[in-house]
Amino acid sequence: MDNVSKKKRSRIMAANKPKDTKPEKAVRSILYALGYRFRKNVKGLPGTPDIVVLGCDTVVFVHGCFWHAHGCGRSSTPKSNVAFWRKKMADNKKRDARNADELAAAGWKVLVIWECQLSSPAKIRKFFIKELKRKEKRERICHEGKREEKKKPHRRKSSKRRGAEGR
Ligand SMILES: [Zn+2]
Repeated sequence: MDNVSKKKRSRIMAANKPKDTKPEKAVRSILYALGYRFRKNVKGLPGTPDIVVLGCDTVVFVHGCFWHAHGCGRSSTPKSNVAFWRKKMADNKKRDARNADELAAAGWKVLVIWECQLSSPAKIRKFFIKELKRKEKRERICHEGKREEKKKPHRRKSSKRRGAEGR
């Protein structure tokens, strides 16, 4: 016998779903391996950032390409209800931008990792090593001395970029 009503179950599922998605877990384990510590799903900040990196004044959003309208191959609009999906994705995009602005205004560095980028974790590692700067020395956890990549030296293309790839 199932005591949980359908309604309640769908509420439970809805409550569970957005947290700890597979891409989020993958990004967190990269950060963890680099020596960073973090909080997840921080509700007190705009957009409830997926990850707040401790000691770095940095938040990380892990975006699903479809819902956040990345514009890559994974984010194409469904063939039916086109207007609905266009609007939905445009709204999501606007909300993301607004949250990022609010966070930046409050002194946070905002980093975005896209789901599709998880196919190359080495790039994400490099990106974090480049972008994450400790603000205080009180915590000893630091990535220095942990070189993951020994191939050709990484040349950054632009200091203004925020994602691990161009947009
Ligand atoms: Zn993508």
